[in-house]
Parts: sequence; C-alpha cells; structure tokens
Amino acid sequence: MKDRFIKHLEKELADIRDAGLYKNERIIVTPQRADIEVEGSEQEVLNFCANNYLGLSDNSRLIEAAKHALDERGYGMSSVRFICGTQDLHKELERAISDYFHTEDTILYAACFDANGGLFEPLFTEEDAIISDSLNHASIIDGVRLCKAKRLRYANADMADLERCLQEAKDCRFRIIATDGVFSMDGNVAPMDKICELAEKYDALVMVDESHSAGVVGKTGHGVAEQFDCYGRIDIFTGTLGKSFGGAMGGFTTGPKAIIDMLRQRSRPYLFSNSLAPSIVGASIEMFKMLAESDELHTRLMENVEYFRSKMLEAGFDIKPTQSAICAVMLYDAKLSQDFAAEMQKEGIYVTGFYYPVVPKGQARIRVQLSAGHNRKQLDRAIDAFIKVGKKLGVLKEA
Ligand SMILES: *Cc1c(COP(=O)(O)O)cnc(C)c1O
Repeated sequence: MKDRFIKHLEKELADIRDAGLYKNERIIVTPQRADIEVEGSEQEVLNFCANNYLGLSDNSRLIEAAKHALDERGYGMSSVRFICGTQDLHKELERAISDYFHTEDTILYAACFDANGGLFEPLFTEEDAIISDSLNHASIIDGVRLCKAKRLRYANADMADLERCLQEAKDCRFRIIATDGVFSMDGNVAPMDKICELAEKYDALVMVDESHSAGVVGKTGHGVAEQFDCYGRIDIFTGTLGKSFGGAMGGFTTGPKAIIDMLRQRSRPYLFSNSLAPSIVGASIEMFKMLAESDELHTRLMENVEYFRSKMLEAGFDIKPTQSAICAVMLYDAKLSQDFAAEMQKEGIYVTGFYYPVVPKGQARIRVQLSAGHNRKQLDRAIDAFIKVGKKLGVLKEA
C-alpha cells in the first residue's frame, strides 16, 4: 500500500517537473535584504522578489527590540492565547495595529493565512453571502470554503460584475464583499471607493486584506483606506506582519469590537494554535512606533518605485500601471518569461517569471518587487541588467 502510494506521488512530482512547474528553493546564507548571498554562488545577488517593501527585514532597531523582548519575556509562549498564552506585549501590539488602521480592536494570528482562514466561518452561516474577487489570495479562498455561506465571485476589480453579485445576494441575511487591497500579480489596487459605494447601496459589509498594501499604498503608506479615504466604510481589515511590517511572521484581523470579540471566541486558528512568540511581538510594537515617528521609509519606497518605473518605460519595456510596489514587466510569452528570469539571475538579479496558470494565458511577465531597502546603485544595476537581457532576447530593439 505504502509503496504504491509513494509511486503515485513520484509520478505526480515528475508530471509537475515535466510541466516546468516544480518549485525549487534558493538557499540564502545572509539576512534577508536587498543584497544577499546564496548557497552555491560566489556572486552577490540583488533581491527583487521579496515582500520586504519597507526594507525592515534586517533592520537593526527591530533586531534590538526582538532581543530585548527575548530577554524580558522569554522565548516561547507554549500555549494558545486563551489558556495561558497572552502577555502584555500581545495586547500592546493589538492596540498598535488598531491605532494604525483606526479600528476598535485587533486579534493576532500566527499568520495572515490563519487570519483569513479563521475569519468567515465564525461570523457567517448559510443564510449569508460572501462575495469575493476572483483574484483574491488563496487564504481568503480557503477561508470562504470553510464557511457555509453562499459564495459568489466577481471578475477582478470589475464593479459591474460585483454589482451583479450583490443583486444576486440581495435576499441573504448578511452580505460581505472580500477583496485584496493590492493584487499580487499585476500590483493593481482594489477600487475601494467604488466597492464601498456599492456596499452601501446594497447594504453589504466590506473586508479587505491589506497584506500587500499596508505600508505601501496611501499618502503615508497606511493602506487602501488612506488611499481612497475610506476610513469608517471598510468594516474588516486583515493583514500580515510578514511583508512591509518587518517580514518576520504573524497576521491580524482588525475592526469593530464585536467582530473581534466573536473571533476570539470562535475563530479556530486563534483558539487552536500557539500564540505569537514574544520576540516577534516586541519587534512588531517597535516597528509600529517607527512608522508613527516618520514616513521616511514609505517615501523612499515610492521614490524607488517611481524611479524604476520611469527608467524601465524609457527603455521601452511594457509595464502594467501600478500604485503599489509591485511592477509587472510584461513579456506575454511563457517560455520567454522563464528565459528572461534565468538570464537576469546570471546577471545577479533575482526576479520572478510568472506564466499560466499563475497568471492568465498569454500574460506571462517578470514581477519586480521594489523596496525602501534598495539604493539607487542597486536599482541602476537591475535596470541595466533588464536592458541588457531585453536586447539579447529581442524584447527591446537595439537603439
Ligand atoms: C502574503 C499574503 C497572505 C499570507 O500572509 P502570511 O502572514 O504570510 O500568512 C495573505 N493574504 C495576502 C493578500 C497575501 O499577500
């Protein structure tokens, strides 16, 4: 039985490899940052594919804060929150997140995957409807699957299609619209102003996952509510501490007190999974202090995005419009996207080539993720490599 099962898996794995979809891991032997070293390569590599938007992954002030929390509050919690796993630091971080998003209360999770996975099932039943953007993150999709509510799906950021879903769900007891703030493949921002208008017209709640948008979009980087001036109109935010907010780990849901209270009572990833480690919590508190003191990192990130985009457009690349820190360099052809990424790697630049089924057929691209941690010289090196490879592969005409 076991042999047969292992053979079955080996065959499936071979199929994944044959389809070119097998995921290999690069082994980094330095802290996560703009310039990294990788096992098996002498060359220093510039990293343009981490979610390290504010460049905080190796920030010395956060490392110090983590060490301080280790000394003061120990290594592990060895408990779930409600049994004996809540420290003063957890409450302090929850308050900091509520302040950041202008909400009443916050609940921490081990990851945003858990925040989304545990959001819908405790709040909604078969009498209700969840209306979800078709490009929402896997964790929202899984969270919706775990809930008995009616499921409706609208085309990415398509407001006419969202309205169709709202009409279809108009007889349900409660309706909630769920969307990512920034979609990770195109880097496009959800049109929250229009979503909120439709929600008000059809009496629906609004939930947004700020994982790729918090720290990035909005005038001071506070996310989509700031960008679209939607404070008070978005009911529930989820997000991660694993991207802009330091990059370690942890997730959260923040919103009205009654919702957060109910999640503390009923949300399964919260009730049945260990509390966040004190070092991460302590560093995260320090991180929100840093962001409250200055917009400098956000400003630098936006300058980097603007610089990179304008130089790439000038060079003749086809780049999707973005208000986020994700730049999709369109190549359209699947094989070309893989060849391009491989050539970039030879130049010491890590970027990711995406093609079907991760993006629609004929929409292959290189995704570049910019960071406040990139300096001008590093950006120029990446742009020069893009131009060199672009010419070599015939994406750019020789000048
Ligand atoms: C990254 C991401 C998550 C998962 O966050 P983790 O904290 O790493 O689990 C959830 N939702 C969205 C939209 C994301 O981009």
